[in-house]
Amino acid sequence: MGAFAAKLLNEDMSIERYACQFKSLQVEQAFLQSKFAQDKKIAQFLTCLIAVVTFLVTFFDKMIIQASFWPDIALFGRAVTISVCLLSAFGLGFIKTPRQLKPVIVVFMVFLFLNIQFMVVTYERNYILHMFFDVIILITFYFSTLLSLKLSLFLGVAYSVFAVIVIYSYKDISTHSFYVVILAHVAANLAGLIMAAQEHTMRRALFVRNTQLAQLAHEMKTQALKDALTQLPNRRAFDNAYEEYQRLAKQQQGEVKQVCVILADIDYFKRVNDTHGHEVGDVVLQRFSAFLTHSLRTSDDVYRFGGEEFVIVLPLCSVPDATVIINSMISRLNSEVCEVGELSLPIRASFGLTVMQEEPKKSVISRADAALYQAKEAGRNQLVIKL
Ligand code: GH3
Ligand code: MG
Ligand code: MG
Repeated sequence: MGAFAAKLLNEDMSIERYACQFKSLQVEQAFLQSKFAQDKKIAQFLTCLIAVVTFLVTFFDKMIIQASFWPDIALFGRAVTISVCLLSAFGLGFIKTPRQLKPVIVVFMVFLFLNIQFMVVTYERNYILHMFFDVIILITFYFSTLLSLKLSLFLGVAYSVFAVIVIYSYKDISTHSFYVVILAHVAANLAGLIMAAQEHTMRRALFVRNTQLAQLAHEMKTQALKDALTQLPNRRAFDNAYEEYQRLAKQQQGEVKQVCVILADIDYFKRVNDTHGHEVGDVVLQRFSAFLTHSLRTSDDVYRFGGEEFVIVLPLCSVPDATVIINSMISRLNSEVCEVGELSLPIRASFGLTVMQEEPKKSVISRADAALYQAKEAGRNQLVIKL
């Protein structure tokens, strides 16, 4: 998520004022993807809700209103609504991308519009009551198609125009009531649009904030695992990786290639600091770190354990191979000098090698430390192996 967040933050994350969408298409797509699962659930919930409400309304209507008012065609219309809603709720489960969700929502809403108007024509005696149903549908609809505000507006206005034409053509209501219907549709569209615009903007602003937070958390996590001076992973990073090393150590038990752990320590480093100053010491530490990194394969790991002490982990390496690698490092150190400004400093180091068993961190490090101590005792600038 961190790397992804960083990439997104490089894009233009501003929101276009009237469409209430991100200006960058890439960001908009990432945003839609991030809330896709939630959108799908909302869509499924709404289709189920419409099915249940339609069923209950039909059920109570049938019981309260006399049968003579109930044409079979109206019952058929409602049965179709319930079936289509339930099938849609089921079918939405198979939708895989926001791109697929959009046309499905449009088709469903168009079906719902036609179906409701069909009911208006075939059944409802008093349209004014039905109008409240229209208003509720419009407002929920503005919320349920959060994929695009323009699309919501288009479908909402189209629905209202269609509904008004249907009532004008099929229903016998007074001019005053007709104006009330038009007004209710205009108000419902406006209210839906304003609420949806706010929701669109807020959700996108929240997405930007969450992306920034994810990036910040990622940066902080990376920083927490990295040594600032040498840019090497630090002791905490070693602690985190230890479980993985243990898994490998267990898997390689009895094999020739094992997990070799080497503790390296610069010889007489204090003298560098004391003679040339702390800043020169810092440069030497950086050079030594780069030297270690460049001397190893990419699959090997180096950690700055603290001060001028480093841990090298060679996963899947035999002890003879590890010995060759470390001894060649020692010879290279002996043949080179470290140039810092005018200074040419000879850098030497001692190494303690051991093989990781199934054991706690402390135990493998203390064995490597004991080997390192022996190397120091024996005159430094050498490798000691302690298995
Ligand atoms: P030995 O050969 O026994 O390892 O001797 P040494 O002088 O290398 O070891 P010692 O542990 O006595 O000294 C380590 C020094 O490393 C002491 C400390 O001031 C220095 N040091 C630790 N961290 C840093 C750092 O980040 N920058 C610099 N410049 N010096 C550091
Ligand atoms: Mg030292
Ligand atoms: Mg030391």
